[in-house]
Amino acid sequence: MYCKNCGKEIDDKAAICVHCGVPTGNSAYTLGNKNWVTALLLCLFLGGMGAHRFYTGHTGTAILQLILTFSFFGLIISAPWALIDLIYIICGKFKTSDGYELSR
Ligand SMILES: [Zn+2]
Repeated sequence: MYCKNCGKEIDDKAAICVHCGVPTGNSAYTLGNKNWVTALLLCLFLGGMGAHRFYTGHTGTAILQLILTFSFFGLIISAPWALIDLIYIICGKFKTSDGYELSR
């Protein structure tokens, strides 16, 4: 794509033009491309299995949450953990693994 300000060619994924420093308006990337509603529903129904964490790219903690859920004592940790994640998602504080906010 081309910069709207200076007209020079820039990367399709660029949020800011490398030539003039003007934002490209590529909001899909600045906001993140993960949907808030999807994350909320995944956490609500499959939160114990870390589905919302897999979705938002937190693969490491997602696997940990999944293992905890299927072990008897782990469930004591995993259930409140999923609940805390749910509260974070509702409050808009849950971010993707690369630090982007979920888009609504
Ligand atoms: Zn430019």
